[in-house]
Amino acid sequence: MAKVLCVLYDDPVSGHPASYARDDLPHIASYPGGQTLPTPRGIDFTPGQLLGSVSGELGLRRFLEDQGHTLVVTSDKDGPDSVFERELPDADIVISQPFWPAYLTAERIERASRLKLAITAGIGSDHVDLDAAIRHGVTVAEVTYCNSISVAEHVVMMILSLVRNYLPAHQIVRDGGWNIADAVARSYDLEGMHVGSVAAGRIGLAVLRRLAPFDVHLHYTDRHRLPAEVEQELGLTFHPSAEDMVPACDVVTINAPLHPETEGLFGDRLLATMKRGSYLINTARARIADRDAVVRALESGRLAGYAGDVWFPQPAPADHPWRTMPHHGMTPHISGSSLSAQARYAAGTREILESWFAGSAIREEYLIVDGGKLAGTGAHSYSTSGPQA
Ligand code: NDP
Repeated sequence: MAKVLCVLYDDPVSGHPASYARDDLPHIASYPGGQTLPTPRGIDFTPGQLLGSVSGELGLRRFLEDQGHTLVVTSDKDGPDSVFERELPDADIVISQPFWPAYLTAERIERASRLKLAITAGIGSDHVDLDAAIRHGVTVAEVTYCNSISVAEHVVMMILSLVRNYLPAHQIVRDGGWNIADAVARSYDLEGMHVGSVAAGRIGLAVLRRLAPFDVHLHYTDRHRLPAEVEQELGLTFHPSAEDMVPACDVVTINAPLHPETEGLFGDRLLATMKRGSYLINTARARIADRDAVVRALESGRLAGYAGDVWFPQPAPADHPWRTMPHHGMTPHISGSSLSAQARYAAGTREILESWFAGSAIREEYLIVDGGKLAGTGAHSYSTSGPQA
């Protein structure tokens, strides 16, 4: 029987919700491109309810305990005295979400001698030291596509929010004010701007598709070029590198995984090549941008705005400079954890566990590391010998 150690974010301050703003979720038939949504044999939760926090337990308890497995759920994940540290040595499976990552460092993997499976209930497994997972034969799987559209919507919201100066204008209203000049002195139309995406994978392409009706000029860079008909349909300009793309853009959105090729990409050097007054949106991973270089670029006016939901570390300390830098539109790490997304990644986590316990293959697209090497989506989008986020 397996011990499953599940790290989830804390419940709402006022407790697990007794009711919700809406009664149901829309039916989504399939993801763009045809990949099917998660197909577990069953679920023990109501889609649309809060599953990603401790009391939600990703809807897994009954499923696991009925089969005799043990489920330990905690939000206490950091430091030598944390519940996670204490429970890890005899855990067979670790589940965690990127929003509240249980950092599986090489040292932790070393001490977790029974660990065989690390599931990311979401997308982005950079909180796991993939090299160490490869060395120790740990399978790493994530729920590919579960929240890609959720993030893409968040990116579009943040682009509009920065360019239109929405957040400061909203704050004026909340403060009882009405100075229109204050609100509009940094407000522009997105129409006609050049918008570029670093990566055109599931999220990047969905962002580009959603922006096309805004009559903007769309650019992208990626390790693999999109099919010519997609480039034509959306009017995309391909650039061989981020270095080549960003000087041409008014708005840049980062949608690549964190791995050795992308860590620190947006440092002083690359930021200096951006147009004065550019906007940078990063919902991918914080460490793709250099923390202090972003602050400097906002202070100098090189960047007119920075927004995103990814920080390092997570949770971000109270004195993290991104909380107080000028012209930012940061949120906590939430874009991929809408109630809609939670229903999908809870079901996907269950599907992965069902396959694992049955000894059958985990869907190829869910795999990041398997059999001692990068596999599935991991083999396509990640590289090794890299950063430990
Ligand atoms: P995909 O795997 O579909 O797409 C990632 C894309 O990045 C691929 O097209 C890949 O290229 C490309 N890429 C990799 N390295 C580079 C590079 N050096 N330069 C340019 N492009 C590169 O993943 P998703 O779109 O679903 O997710 C992307 C990332 O977004 C995740 O890895 C995660 O970090 C983040 N994310 C954030 C969430 C949030 O809540 N904020 C939620 C979900 C994801 P190719 O495959 O062609 O080699």
